[in-house]
Amino acid sequence: MKPEDLANAHIRTLEPYQGGRPIEEVERELGIERAVKLASNEAPVAPSPKVIEAIREAAAHVNRYPDGNCFYLKQALAAHLDVEPDWLFLGAGSDEILEVLAKSFLGPGAEAVFPWPGFAMYPIVTQGMGAEPVGVPLDDALRVDVARLAEAVTERTRLLFLPNPNNPTGTSIGAAAFGELLEAIPERVVIACDEAYLEYARRDDFPDTLRALRERKTLLQLRTFSKIHGLAGLRIGFGIGHPSLIGILERARHPFNVNSLAQVAALAALDDAGHVERVRKLTHESLAQLERGFDALGLAYAASDANFVLVRVGGNANDLAERLMRRGVITRSMVGFGLSDYIRVTAGLPEENEQFLAALRAERGS
Ligand code: PMP
Repeated sequence: MKPEDLANAHIRTLEPYQGGRPIEEVERELGIERAVKLASNEAPVAPSPKVIEAIREAAAHVNRYPDGNCFYLKQALAAHLDVEPDWLFLGAGSDEILEVLAKSFLGPGAEAVFPWPGFAMYPIVTQGMGAEPVGVPLDDALRVDVARLAEAVTERTRLLFLPNPNNPTGTSIGAAAFGELLEAIPERVVIACDEAYLEYARRDDFPDTLRALRERKTLLQLRTFSKIHGLAGLRIGFGIGHPSLIGILERARHPFNVNSLAQVAALAALDDAGHVERVRKLTHESLAQLERGFDALGLAYAASDANFVLVRVGGNANDLAERLMRRGVITRSMVGFGLSDYIRVTAGLPEENEQFLAALRAERGS
């Protein structure tokens, strides 16, 4: 008997998530030095020194299981966000929360609706439950199309994933469009508003999701410590929603889903607003540097409210990404998302951006 004959069909046919390749692996394989990774939308700098100190102290106690209820972290987050602790759900990255949502609300016969191109985990967690992923095209400016999303909702729709800002486009929707979406989507559909990049948003009219979820029990805001706080390697994210919704997710999670180092690190990160502000400023300057570089090359790019840019390079993006990699710059080809002549590049340090732009200029012969 072959395992593939025994596995659930919806698992056997899953397209696995393609992560950005680690720098060390690329350097080893290509025999190059000083590669830069601008492929996974990570913060380009180390986390706050307070975080590193907290992890160092907690390291001696990892013989113990973590606090399965994240008591201290929930207290601190609740104070930070001005909500009660029972409005909070902690997960091993927002990835895990997406999976817990799927486990809680999806199954064979159900559908989950999301914009596409959108975050790659939406179809994966949906199909992982034997449910139907329904990707909805973006508008001409590569923004989430609220009217189209609403039209895609059927009797079978149980979940709607709304990435805002979206990945891989970096585009966002404002308060007016968000309001329209809430009006148009029936309350029986759980809306997961995935705001992993919220802190980078440059627009003034960014939706106030925290306020909206006080009025809709089937709305969850998803946030993460992976991006602006720089804790991607520790895996910790959180959801905010009505206690009745949080109560469902609590039933569906593992007992010790958030490890103890992640918990202390997140607590320390919350305590360093100055660090967050520095990363935000650095990222905005970095985006401006990339945009100037693209302008000089005459390349079109999507308006970004995140820490990365989607740029139209012309020609096959797989080839270009491969050639950039040989020059020591790891970016992400968008061919797999149906954007065959786009790459996505994460805002890096000034010298990393320059290394990328120089490689891009060299590849374009200009
Ligand atoms: N949502 C979006 C839109 C993302 O881009 C990412 C990370 N790439 C995630 C969620 C997951 O983030 P994490 O699991 O690290 O919190």
